[in-house]
Amino acid sequence: MDLKSFISIVPDFPEEGISFKDITTLLQNGDALKYAVDQFAHMAKDLQIDIILGPEARGFIFGTAVAYALGAGFVPLRKAGKLPRETISESYSLEYGKDSLEIHHDAIQKGQRVLIVDDLLATGGTLSTSIKLVEKLQGTVEGVFTLIELMNLNGRENLKGYNVQSLITYP
Ligand code: AMP
Repeated sequence: MDLKSFISIVPDFPEEGISFKDITTLLQNGDALKYAVDQFAHMAKDLQIDIILGPEARGFIFGTAVAYALGAGFVPLRKAGKLPRETISESYSLEYGKDSLEIHHDAIQKGQRVLIVDDLLATGGTLSTSIKLVEKLQGTVEGVFTLIELMNLNGRENLKGYNVQSLITYP
């Protein structure tokens, strides 16, 4: 299936110069959504994953679905101030803007095998921050999977040494 054909490109959103990749047109198609989740689950099948980690907000969508497919747990990474119990946090920068991500201090146990799933790899800021939080809790990052990868931003450079895979690439 040509997953790319389900992505809508929105020029100059949310600010001038950004070519926004809108995944909602993929999500609303049952066949495309199922295919994407099945692909992720297939790529993860030999990784013995305990926990899927999904960054807010679009990482929740694919992350939870992949966790269900694998029979793994799901852990959300949230923007500052959203998680109710004790957290650890890391700040990060986006293709546009800056923010910080938090995880519950007890969300991952030492030695648990973690797969990070998100919608899109741009600069890699979000995903390298996610990796830091997993490693602070002494989990091991077995993979970093995204639906989309923007090759021109070289986000992979920030994720060197990790098993980074994406389903759709843009030059
Ligand atoms: P980054 O930390 O730069 O890799 O950016 C990661 C997050 O920002 C992604 O998970 C997307 O949700 C969002 N994002 C960044 N650039 C774009 C884009 N061009 N189109 C859609 N979403 C984007």
